[in-house]
Amino acid sequence: MIEIKNLHKSYKMGSNSLHVLKGINFSVEEGELVAIMGSSGSGKSTLLNILGMLDVLDEGSYTLDGVPIKNLNETKAAQYRNKFLGFVFQSFNLINYKSAMENVALPLYYQKVGRKERQEKALKYLEQVGLREWADHLPSELSGGQKQRVAIARAMAAEPKVLLADEPTGALDSTTSYEVMDLIQKINDAGNTILIVTHEPDIADMCKRIVHLKDGVIVEDKKITQIRASQYV
Ligand code: ATP
Ligand code: MG
Repeated sequence: MIEIKNLHKSYKMGSNSLHVLKGINFSVEEGELVAIMGSSGSGKSTLLNILGMLDVLDEGSYTLDGVPIKNLNETKAAQYRNKFLGFVFQSFNLINYKSAMENVALPLYYQKVGRKERQEKALKYLEQVGLREWADHLPSELSGGQKQRVAIARAMAAEPKVLLADEPTGALDSTTSYEVMDLIQKINDAGNTILIVTHEPDIADMCKRIVHLKDGVIVEDKKITQIRASQYV
């Protein structure tokens, strides 16, 4: 599903350059649930943004579902991003003046799905995250955990091949974090490939594999016996 070879990334700031990723080799099979860990500044978000085609690599190669992602023009990149990838962020990134349902329907609007089908699909995905009754509510009327579940429903509505989540539980207390992880595990059980950036070991233990970044390289990559979040919910 994902294959990265000898990936390098630097940020240029004036005459200085910060070499953040220094030769990453990494592949992910369909159906995996991977945690990316590492200290603050180790390059986790940089890696996730490159995987998510929100940023470009300097050197190396990236293949996503058989497609080499390099030197794509902005239109093609946007097409692949919409087709392959769903995003979830620490700060939810919901649109405040739109209802939960309208937020979930948004990617379908960009896919040019008709209004009625958009609504039906949005309700279906809200149902899956347990928020069917909250469809008409604004984000400001929802708790943090509910907001993140709406954000997950929105990401899933586009039916992405890969779900990328940067600190999805970073703004939540531990009980709510486990609720969100329970949902992520269920989505993964249904066959979706998911990558999560987290600095919380408890959250990483709920994934199937943990990758550790340090000084711009992967220093550890291990399969783990997954802990079910539902035990804690
Ligand atoms: P955190 O756990 O704090 O979120 P992270 O592992 O996600 O950290 P990154 O955001 O990938 O770290 O940042 C890696 C390094 O690159 C940091 O030193 C950061 O300051 C730098 N950096 C990140 N984005 C940019 C940018 N757009 N321009 C310049 N430097 C950047
Ligand atoms: Mg980060």
